[in-house]
Amino acid sequence: MTAAGHNRNEPQSAEQDRSSEPPPRYSAQCRAGIRTRLSPSILLARGSRWAWALAATFSHRLLNTMRALKHIAGVLLTTVGVMFVLGAIFHLFNPEPEVPLWGVGVVIVFLGLLPLGAAFALLRRTLTAPSRPCPHCGGTERQPAGVLRRSHNPWIFHFGGWLFASLWGTSREQQVRCTKCDTLYLTDTRGTRIAGVLLWVLVLLVLFGLIVQQFEGRL
Ligand SMILES: [Zn+2]
Repeated sequence: MTAAGHNRNEPQSAEQDRSSEPPPRYSAQCRAGIRTRLSPSILLARGSRWAWALAATFSHRLLNTMRALKHIAGVLLTTVGVMFVLGAIFHLFNPEPEVPLWGVGVVIVFLGLLPLGAAFALLRRTLTAPSRPCPHCGGTERQPAGVLRRSHNPWIFHFGGWLFASLWGTSREQQVRCTKCDTLYLTDTRGTRIAGVLLWVLVLLVLFGLIVQQFEGRL
């Protein structure tokens, strides 16, 4: 009836206590391993590795955010510059100009060309960044091959006119053929990026025009 090794004379409660005692979960070797893993130097090393990984992820995110913000700022500055240059040019054709010629010149230089220059400085990096290499061989030499694939969107043409439609089509990723291994793949190029910026500028100009129209209608 009694289990082997158990003393028959032992009090009942003690025997119960021992049986309810949980079996050892870790062997001595394992415990030693845990102790080593929890040693300060190893914890410090692991902590610093985590900190590095965290910092790397964070800086990567920050870099991406900064790049996006620079791009947005570049697009906005281009819009401002184009708006003032166009406004000044229209003003020159006005038969009864309200602003003297030198004033128009000042507007063109300080509100037109200066923002455009700043926009160019902000956008230069992203516009001239290297395009995607060939996914098959990693080669960077390519030829345009978008013969079978025309990114023409009839809806955009219908609602936005030819300028929107052509900018939309040009800003899409282009199909190219790798000169080394003849693989067809999609990539953005300098042309698609410039067209993308111009597309945004056009959208913002139209939006701005609509807002101004709304305000003028209310006055
Ligand atoms: Zn290739």
